Amino acid sequence: MFSTKSSYDIVVVGGGPGGALAAWKAAEQGVNVLMIEKDREIGLPVRCAEAIGADVVHRYLEKDPRWISHELHGARFFAPSGDSVEFSLDSLGSGYILERNVFDRELANQAARAGADIRVSTCATGLVYDQDRLAGVKMNTRGEEYTVPCKLVIAADGVESRVARWAGLNTMIALRDLEVTTQYLMDNVTTDKGYFEFYLGKEVAPGGYLWIFPKGPNTANVGIGVCGRYTRRQSSTAYLNAFVEKHLPNSTPLGMVVGSVPVAHTLDDIVTDGLMIVGDAARMVNPSTGGGIAQAMTSGEIAGKIAGEAIKKGDVSKEELFRYRKAWDKRYGNLQKRIYGLKEAFHKVPDEDFNRTAALFKNKKHVHVFELLTKLLIHQPGMILNFMRAFAGR
Ligand code: FAD
Repeated sequence: MFSTKSSYDIVVVGGGPGGALAAWKAAEQGVNVLMIEKDREIGLPVRCAEAIGADVVHRYLEKDPRWISHELHGARFFAPSGDSVEFSLDSLGSGYILERNVFDRELANQAARAGADIRVSTCATGLVYDQDRLAGVKMNTRGEEYTVPCKLVIAADGVESRVARWAGLNTMIALRDLEVTTQYLMDNVTTDKGYFEFYLGKEVAPGGYLWIFPKGPNTANVGIGVCGRYTRRQSSTAYLNAFVEKHLPNSTPLGMVVGSVPVAHTLDDIVTDGLMIVGDAARMVNPSTGGGIAQAMTSGEIAGKIAGEAIKKGDVSKEELFRYRKAWDKRYGNLQKRIYGLKEAFHKVPDEDFNRTAALFKNKKHVHVFELLTKLLIHQPGMILNFMRAFAGR
């Protein structure tokens, strides 16, 4: 083991994008930080479709071909009828399909360069209290049980988070706010390499969508997210298999991942005395798209900085750490509440409305979002009104 300090100011549990940013930004404050990851290698296994906006990434890292699989400039939405609407992303900025394992490792590298220690194959198994004060983390490294004393813990342990629950916080999530996902890495997929592709409809992906995101010359991430309440009828894997059989009969799966994505509101409590929660563990994902890498990085950045400042001030009370809650709500949490409303409205759109919308733009390339909204206002005002109500939170 290379990191040999026996105690730390801050222990970050989880080495994903949320944990890495938290460790990086806390270490930059000159405090002692340890980040632990239960898996043997940071970034593996990859449980992600690997899509992210380029602008978010470049807040933290310079462009590097090692962790970019594809740069995409458009998105194509397929209605159940088979017609599609094709958007140019240029007005919004381009998107990347990442090599997520290399990307996550690069973020962890930045944390290490800023001075954080990292232990892999190390699982947090409990919290230690000195009377009422959080005083350390119990861990297990390849069978060896021990405790690392610390002043503050950052829970970045993903959707299945246990750390926050150990601290007595309510992390329950309703089935309707959980997107159940299955994804294949598939060979012999000949899609347009410049586009994110999304397939919509109650038969294809109820309460969610199916995606094809290009990876290598012929490979793509082909996956599906289905709202948890519909998976009693049929599993997400069965929905995906039905699509693959119909649309990609000559493709071969090279890999498979299953997982879940919290498409909810941020937890009511993301801080308590001596503890902060970031990323998926705090339910910070975009509820409409299911994307959470950017939110994990942003929350990690804010939490890490505030954690470092709190340590230097000698005050890790809930009241002091509440600055993180306020900063998060200002940066994204308030917007997330509105996006949640959009998700709910989107689930209610009947397939016929998707078909009618796609028919309006049939054979038209590079539709601008503004053009879409204008045409919908004229031809489907009811649909726009529902979305506006959802966005306004009514
Ligand atoms: P994670 O990346 O999950 O990291 C948590 C880490 O904590 C893990 O490495 C885990 O091993 C570790 N850990 C857990 N418990 C412990 C413990 N007790 N001790 C030590 N370590 C522990 N988002 C996007 O933005 N774009 C996409 O295209 C996209 N596609 C997705 C596709 C699928 C199929 C799924 C399941 C998710 C997808 N997401 C996507 C969501 C995205 O992957 C997450 O939002 C993001 O990884 C959250 O980062 P995080 O750091 O909070 O958690």
